[in-house]
Amino acid sequence: MTLIVQKYGGTSVGSAERIKNVARRVARAHQNGHDVVVVVSAMSGETNRLVALAQEIQDYPDPREMDAVLATGEQVTIGLLAMALKSIGVAARSYTGWQVAIQTDNAHTKARIHHIDDAAIRADLAAHRVVVIAGFQGVDNEGNITTLGRGGSDTSAVALAAALKADECQIYTDVDGVYTTDPRVVPEARRLNTISFEEMLELASLGSKVLQIRSVEFAGKYKVRLRVLSSLEEGGNGTLITFEEDKHMMEEAAVSGIAFDKNQARINVRGVPDKPGIAFQILGAVAEANIEVDMIIQNVGAEGTTDFSFTVPRSEYQSTLDILHKAQKNIGAREICGDDTVCKVSIVGMGMRSHVGIASTMFRTLAEEGINIQMISTSEIKVSVLIDEKYLELATRVLHRVFELDKVPQH
Ligand code: ASP
Ligand code: MG
Repeated sequence: MTLIVQKYGGTSVGSAERIKNVARRVARAHQNGHDVVVVVSAMSGETNRLVALAQEIQDYPDPREMDAVLATGEQVTIGLLAMALKSIGVAARSYTGWQVAIQTDNAHTKARIHHIDDAAIRADLAAHRVVVIAGFQGVDNEGNITTLGRGGSDTSAVALAAALKADECQIYTDVDGVYTTDPRVVPEARRLNTISFEEMLELASLGSKVLQIRSVEFAGKYKVRLRVLSSLEEGGNGTLITFEEDKHMMEEAAVSGIAFDKNQARINVRGVPDKPGIAFQILGAVAEANIEVDMIIQNVGAEGTTDFSFTVPRSEYQSTLDILHKAQKNIGAREICGDDTVCKVSIVGMGMRSHVGIASTMFRTLAEEGINIQMISTSEIKVSVLIDEKYLELATRVLHRVFELDKVPQH
């Protein structure tokens, strides 16, 4: 007997018909003799609707009350799915996050899970019931409702799988796995049978939207066997996220995937005195406003000055410029400017550890297409470049081809 946690996202429970479809899929796993815990998101569009509603009342909704509102989306789907299961003869019971209880800290709208009480779940499983749990929500130690940040039900599922020591955590979504890149941009993109945990972590942080990054971190920490599958198609194996232990299963390509991120804007601070503390002066002001800085470059400029460039989320472009213009005199910068029509394209692969020349192949390929690289950042298993957003699709396509991502690797 195995214990499986299945998570269904918003699209998968987006209508009564789809919920009935999920119920049939859950029923099949249950009838095959598995213990099944199901985690669901709100119906697609529902969380956005709730956010908009709250913003009609308050420009910056009170975080505690915001969570009370946001958590309702998932409460609807657990009830509906449990009903759908019962109506096809499967014993089931729904639980909100606080009924379980999924204990979190008190950081409303971005809470972190501390502990999961598994007593009620275990009792239901022992009685052969399917347990349906609301994703994205928990409760702090004073009984306040919390939520885990957008996309957080992935994290709920992985955390539950870890707490229950499940044999597998299956994330059902509207794509049938993790692809070499977004198939809407590169039709030749290929589903990966496996991807390493490290690569998945990079892809999630670099803009691939398949899994919430926190859920991947969680899976790594507790070694949860994680699989991404389609809820709309039958029979696929999806993509399994593997760990070092599973080395024999890994696809040994130099580059495994390409991610891109349009949510980028570049800021340039030119002609600042080249002296200790200047980076802190510039970036400290930005950090204080809670703006996340991504890529950073500092260059030697003319006559004892230095030029500074970095990227911020596009939605923070104007506010970052405002902050820096205010601080311009203090910093002693000659010029502050930027560009919010840029994007970041990244290649990711464990194979970079052993293959040389991956970065130079990337740069040559982009040069041959006349694509100018504005910034570069690297880690052991990724290379990211910042380019004009009008080249996003071209860059992704040529990189996909040059690294032969459309070809099935030979073992
Ligand atoms: N319903 C939440 C959201 O839309 C949580 C989730 O879907 O994972 O962000
Ligand atoms: Mg999601």
